[in-house]
Amino acid sequence: MNKKLKDVIMSKLMLKFISIFLLFSLLHTIMGYPFKLIYILTISIVLLYVKNGSYRFFVLFFTTLAALYLPIGLIYGPPTYNTVASFYYTDIQESREFIANIDIKYYLYSIFILILGALVSSIKVNAVNYHKKVVVILMAIIFFFTPAKYALGGKYERAANSGAPETRFFTELIYSIYSLIDEVKLYTSNDSFEITKVNNKYDIYVIVIGESVRKDFMHSYGFKVSNTPFMSSSNGTFFTNYISAASSTQSSLTHSLALYPKIGNNIMTLASKAGFDTYWLSNQGFVGEYDGSVAAIGRRANHSFFIKRGSSDDKRVSSDTALLPEFNSVLKSLGNKKLIVVHLMGSHTPFCTRTEEQYNTFYHNKKFSCYVQSIKNTDKLLSEIYTGLNESKSKWSMMYFSDHALSMTYDKNELAHSDGHKQNYEVPFFITSYDSIQQEFINARRSGLHFMSLFSQWTGIQENSIKNECDMLSSNECNDQSTVIDFNKNHRDFDSLPNDHS
Ligand SMILES: [Zn+2]
Repeated sequence: MNKKLKDVIMSKLMLKFISIFLLFSLLHTIMGYPFKLIYILTISIVLLYVKNGSYRFFVLFFTTLAALYLPIGLIYGPPTYNTVASFYYTDIQESREFIANIDIKYYLYSIFILILGALVSSIKVNAVNYHKKVVVILMAIIFFFTPAKYALGGKYERAANSGAPETRFFTELIYSIYSLIDEVKLYTSNDSFEITKVNNKYDIYVIVIGESVRKDFMHSYGFKVSNTPFMSSSNGTFFTNYISAASSTQSSLTHSLALYPKIGNNIMTLASKAGFDTYWLSNQGFVGEYDGSVAAIGRRANHSFFIKRGSSDDKRVSSDTALLPEFNSVLKSLGNKKLIVVHLMGSHTPFCTRTEEQYNTFYHNKKFSCYVQSIKNTDKLLSEIYTGLNESKSKWSMMYFSDHALSMTYDKNELAHSDGHKQNYEVPFFITSYDSIQQEFINARRSGLHFMSLFSQWTGIQENSIKNECDMLSSNECNDQSTVIDFNKNHRDFDSLPNDHS
């Protein structure tokens, strides 16, 4: 081998390069980022060009940062919006539990990293000067190319959430904190309700919000498999033409349960102002891009209970029946005017996860069979809530609807979240009460965009800004009941949408 090359390989410089490479591979992982060779190589080369003092500072700074962030990084990942929001909404008791529950092995990892960082930072080799300008410019381009590309295209969120971990950690953190501040402002804004009259026919109002249920997969709406024994035999009012405001959870529920975009004006703040004790019991996520806004409405309740502490796609799956004990204890709690919202995971994909891979009746394929079963499980839960309400001997009324539905894929083998078909919006809507004596059907169309009017009428809470010209609980035709909101937030005419492939 060429002697000069051999000298380089065996030199302290090579030792330094390899040490930095290994250390920063570890640091990136600890901060929650995937291994990206290009960024590790860049940082390893750049640090060879830096004077010993600055080199030492840089290595120690990132080692300390990573060692402190280690438990969070390894458990939750980088400081994304979800991580930041989880921390913000966690109370002191939970933070203590989090810290107490950190496995001792994470502390050992942190100590190991600190020692390793200290060793690597103490390697002293004269800074390389070989084509310094060219190398520095080249490395800077690699470092900032992706974020700059997004920022110039106006995609600031993508810009903040990309690039090398050494910069991304901070841009992502700052961006997340800013988004959270915006969200908190929006959802904690005080309501501006002006209640003119409260004349509630019932004392306990229960809203059960289902998930991803299309009504034509329910026996009570004509489906051939008997999967709704409770609802099919119950007295009450069946809405046969209720359409959801949108075809995804957040968009649909924020437009139904609040006077969007004034999220502070929602069913919880309205009922609370009208003298109801309000409860929100949820099996859906607590924070996150796909849960945050609905959960934020839920947190406006006087009492909120979330099974999950993370987002809906949290790996820990819990059955909706886990909400029942909480529901029953709410029924027994003091106070006689209550609004209780129960937010289910219902028939959310993957369907077989919801039913623990079980189904009673085979229908078409395994996924469909699980879907049909998940609806049956929700029907059973409704019957248990009904039993609890009857045993409470109170004057109660219960409403059930689904946040949105699903459409059939072109091969007819799957049901998917989509926004382009009528079926994405055709959900069940049912109200029963302690004094319901027969099955009634309302065939006039009702839109989830007018849910607040329907809610105000149902609960007898009259308020100045909530429209009440049309009797939503009758068979009267009401105006403007055909608009839905698609994935791109465009308003579309429901009647112009095609049917799906079913
Ligand atoms: Zn949903």
